[in-house]
Amino acid sequence: APAATTDPIAEYSGNRPLTVLMYSIFQVGTAERDLMKTFRIPADTFITYMLTLEDHYHADVAYHNSAHAADVVDASAVLQAVFTDLEIMAAIFASAIHDVDHPGVSNQFLINTNSELALMYNDASVLENHHLAVGFKLLQEDNCDIFQNLSKKQRQSLRKMAIDMVRGGRGTKKVTSLGVLLLDNYSDRIQVSGKRPQRHKSLNMVHCADLSNPTKPLRLYRQWTERIMAEFFGQGDRERDKGMEISPMCDKHNASVEKSQVGPWGYSCGCSCRCSCRCSWRYSWRCSWC
Ligand SMILES: [Zn+2]
Repeated sequence: APAATTDPIAEYSGNRPLTVLMYSIFQVGTAERDLMKTFRIPADTFITYMLTLEDHYHADVAYHNSAHAADVVDASAVLQAVFTDLEIMAAIFASAIHDVDHPGVSNQFLINTNSELALMYNDASVLENHHLAVGFKLLQEDNCDIFQNLSKKQRQSLRKMAIDMVRGGRGTKKVTSLGVLLLDNYSDRIQVSGKRPQRHKSLNMVHCADLSNPTKPLRLYRQWTERIMAEFFGQGDRERDKGMEISPMCDKHNASVEKSQVGPWGYSCGCSCRCSCRCSWRYSWRCSWC
C-alpha cells in the first residue's frame, strides 16, 4: 500500500499506524492523562475496535488512508492543555474516525456520479456523514464498544462533540474541497481567552489538525502533498474517462504543485507557516517553508 511505505509510524507499526498511535496515546497517556484508566476502557476492546476501524480505511487510497488518520490524531493530541478528559477523548476519537472508509474522491464527485453514498445522505456532507456513521457503527461490532463504561450522559456528550468536530460544528460554514477541510473565517470563530477552555476551540481542533500538513518537516510535508496530488489526479482520471468536467487541481496534464508553491494547503494558513486559527499550534510547530 502506498500509504504505509513512506511513513515512519506506518513503517514501524506493522502497517497499523492508527492502532499503534491510538494505543500509545490512550495507554501511555498524553498531557499526563490516562484515558484508558479514566474511562475504564478494556485494553482488548480498545485494540479490537482500533484494528477494525483501521481495516475500514482504504490502504489503496493515496492520501485519505489510515496513515493520514494517524497523522491527524497525532496533531490533535498536542493541543490538549486546557480541555477536559472527555473533550480530549472526543477530539482524539473524532480524529481517528474522521476519514474512515474514504473512497479517495470528493463529495462533489460522489454527487455528480449519483453514488450510493450521495443517495444515502441526500448530497449533504456526504463523506463527513459517512465517516461518522462508520466510526460509530463499528462500536457495535463484537468487543468493540470502547465507551461501554461511560455514563449515558458522557456517551451522549462525546457523541455530540465528535459529530460536531467531524462535520465542522453547528452553524459553522465549512467548505469541503476535495476532501481537504477548509474553514471560512477561521480566526473569527476561534477565540482563545487563554484562561477557560473555549468550546469553539475544541470543536475546531480536528479541522486544525487536518490542515496541519504545512507545519510538518519538509520531507514529510512533501510526501503528504505528493499523496494528495496522486489522489486528486486519480479522481481527475476518472472524471476524464467519464467525460465529466475535471475538478480543480485534479487534472494531471494541467496542474503543478510547484506552481502554487505550498501545494493544496497554501490557503489554509495566512503565511503558510501556521494554523490560521491562531490556536496554540503556532507556538509549537514550525513550517519548513519559512
Ligand atoms: Zn482528513
